[in-house]
Amino acid sequence: MYKIRIIGAGLAGSEAAIYLAKKGYNVDLIEMRPKYTTKAHTTSLPAELVCSNSLGSADILNASGLLKKEAEILGSALFEIANATSIPSGNSLSVDRFGFSNEVEKTIKNYKNINIIREKYEKIDDTTPTIIATGPLTSDELCNEIKAKFGQSNFHFFDAVAPIVEKKSINFDKAFYASRWDKGDADFINCPMDKSEYENFYNILINSQRAKLKDFEANYFEGCMPIEVMASRGKDTLRFGPMKPVGIFDKRIKTEFKKHQFWAIVQLRQDDKMANLYNLVGFQTNLLWSEQKKLIHSIPGLENANIVRYGVMHANTFINSPQILNKYLQTKKYKNIFFAGQLTGVEGYCESIATGLLAAINMDLYIKNKQMITLSNNTMLGALTDYITYSEHKKFQPINSNWGIINELSEESGKIKDKKYKNTLRSQRATEEIQKLKDNIKE
Ligand SMILES: Cc1cc2nc3c(=O)[nH]c(=O)nc-3n(C[C@H](O)[C@H](O)[C@H](O)COP(=O)(O)OP(=O)(O)OC[C@H]3O[C@@H](n4cnc5c(N)ncnc54)[C@H](O)[C@@H]3O)c2cc1C
Repeated sequence: MYKIRIIGAGLAGSEAAIYLAKKGYNVDLIEMRPKYTTKAHTTSLPAELVCSNSLGSADILNASGLLKKEAEILGSALFEIANATSIPSGNSLSVDRFGFSNEVEKTIKNYKNINIIREKYEKIDDTTPTIIATGPLTSDELCNEIKAKFGQSNFHFFDAVAPIVEKKSINFDKAFYASRWDKGDADFINCPMDKSEYENFYNILINSQRAKLKDFEANYFEGCMPIEVMASRGKDTLRFGPMKPVGIFDKRIKTEFKKHQFWAIVQLRQDDKMANLYNLVGFQTNLLWSEQKKLIHSIPGLENANIVRYGVMHANTFINSPQILNKYLQTKKYKNIFFAGQLTGVEGYCESIATGLLAAINMDLYIKNKQMITLSNNTMLGALTDYITYSEHKKFQPINSNWGIINELSEESGKIKDKKYKNTLRSQRATEEIQKLKDNIKE
């Protein structure tokens, strides 16, 4: 039987190893801990949860809950273990931290065809089918190797993400499409402020609390200025930076020609292929999420904005998946090499497990010379994979599961106001598609 190499016994790597071992492959699972460790791991256990012990919502009407359900249908071993080691936590799936990782280790060790090799992987061998799942804290040597093989500009050491909102929640009585000085297409959505609105926004911003960076993260952000830091340099700094109003006009309002119609403007840029999501340009931020919500809702036009992704700044190694990967999580350049987990630009425990599973399913099909699978954007896993591999991204930043990346139900569905009912229909549609796919890939 073929040998497959999996690099990193984290969440994605452990999930992939178990799936492929079940299929009968000889799996070399290469993990550098405990000999070498990361700045967040503290044990030698596989699938260690580096921070919270919560795997997010267990409710299928929640985006993360749906992703879990989809992975369960596709045969996820880690979610099965998570359910078996869960502890009471209301509507979410929280686990006994060490119970969970110990059980993953036990499962891996029960497969005689998984060989755990405790060493640091440094050179990518593209002659052996390999899944690289070394996570957000990939060792420096492997980071350099990935850069050498796939290009310097296709590798990132941190993310500084600006918040993303759903377009349909934007109030277009106030917001409007325009480009600066009418250059090119009017692709940007603009949220204008008068002087008092700007002052209100500014006061909220400078009084907001920031999230605490870990010590090892602080030096990553020297060259990257969050809006709260920019604002602390002076009341008008933002008006001469990302909130510059010059050259942007709302044509619905008649004014004699001046350099600007407004005191300040927040611009939003299209973020996904379907134009459902828009990010706030220049708004990378490290504010607490509750503070971001208050701040964003103070922007005219975004009073009721549905925030699908909050801004974050943290150490995070990830590849430029839109350039490097195809939709099967296989590299375009080396057919034997797949990537999975947070390193692909998905973010979160569940997203890492789910992409580990998808990479393993496709690795199996690839080796058998069968058609690999993609899931449609009706499913959370399909929409996530599509997002990270969509090659037109102007500035790719990591993403977690959210409803904004999912296809609308139908044209009429825009009229469905009951969110719970809508998510019930979306979840049904997704699980039916995944079930059908599962039946098709069964041998
Ligand atoms: C500090 C921190 C806190 C986080 N907190 C949360 C949270 O609370 N909730 C959440 O949902 N997500 C969180 N995340 C994000 C993310 O979901 C987790 O990091 C998740 O563990 C990613 O899964 P993974 O399988 O991609 O990587 P990991 O689980 O990190 O697994 C990667 C493995 O690869 C190994 N490795 C690295 N380099 C090499 C090498 N060269 N050779 C061999 N092995 C190597 C590592 O030792 C590790 O075991 C956090 C991330 C960080 C960095």
